[in-house]
Amino acid sequence: MRPLIERLTSPTKPAKVVATNVLATLSSFLCFSPKNFFNILISKAQIDKQVRNTDDNALERDQKYQMIVETRAVSAKSYIQNAPWLITETSAKVLLDFITWVLPYAQRTDLKNATIFLIKEIYQFEQVDGVKMVVTLLNKNLKSATLLKNITQELVELDKQQRVPPQVIYVEGNKNDKNDQPRIVSLKQTAEKQIDLTDFPPGVCQFCTHEVTKDLKEVEGKMWTHLLKDCSCCCICPSCHQVVEICYLPMHVCGDRECSGQKDYAYKLDLCEHCQLPFEESLLQQHEAQCQVSLKGDQLVCPLCGVILDGGEDALIHYSELKCQANPRTSQEFQDIIKQKMDKRGD
Ligand SMILES: [Zn+2]
Ligand SMILES: [Zn+2]
Ligand SMILES: [Zn+2]
Ligand SMILES: [Zn+2]
Repeated sequence: MRPLIERLTSPTKPAKVVATNVLATLSSFLCFSPKNFFNILISKAQIDKQVRNTDDNALERDQKYQMIVETRAVSAKSYIQNAPWLITETSAKVLLDFITWVLPYAQRTDLKNATIFLIKEIYQFEQVDGVKMVVTLLNKNLKSATLLKNITQELVELDKQQRVPPQVIYVEGNKNDKNDQPRIVSLKQTAEKQIDLTDFPPGVCQFCTHEVTKDLKEVEGKMWTHLLKDCSCCCICPSCHQVVEICYLPMHVCGDRECSGQKDYAYKLDLCEHCQLPFEESLLQQHEAQCQVSLKGDQLVCPLCGVILDGGEDALIHYSELKCQANPRTSQEFQDIIKQKMDKRGD
């Protein structure tokens, strides 16, 4: 396999094409090890060995060496594009080492694009907690704040395409504070930490922050009833009957790995790129052309009444202090209508 990989960097095109095809065939055999493959293809030690390089900083100053690394990165990218299963728990580590190595020198467009592609692949690879790995790697190895910001934007865009809430955020920090430098932050870690910090006592609802019960023995049952019927911040998905936080409902009905009832929807739903509310696919274009909403920062639109909310804190007030006129659990108007209907039925 090694001579083939060496031919990938051959200056003559036909040799390169043959090598690529043969490798593609090889990689479809079961005994094929993606880890070994990437190791020979892109690890620093192997490239150095193959081109007999002894200069540890060749990537920084040797143009010919840069070209070789670039070709390897680009072919790794095309292999993964054709065979995503090449990313495994063990091969991901080889890819991570490669990214760590080239990232500071990835100025040439092709090398930069291939490296960012690899970052995105790892980011999406859940078996190794790709998000966490990418966040650590970028903060440790990327000195350019501009590139860090750009990559973060691409990752957020990727989340959007996958219909998951953004998993990372770029933090500008404070130039004068050594401990507050520009960085990428994983929202998942932050959310977990925040819950630890605020430390909801058992019996207090983490959505609306109301105390549901003091009796530890009945917490589970009481909390369940609270979420199912009373919590002002939650609702029941009309399709899968799961308890869903109201703010999260649009994502729940549209997201790829969300509502289990999606296959039974009469309409295909998609989110408006402006207001982030769900619309039937055939009506979406028309709506988007007219939608006047322009959300800034953490803002979101209440999926029930359409009011713009300034993030999580504001949403909590909106629902728990009964400000949402369209929340069927808390709006007096709604309750009256429901009561009337129930009474009528009783007659
Ligand atoms: Zn609650
Ligand atoms: Zn659902
Ligand atoms: Zn809209
Ligand atoms: Zn509302």
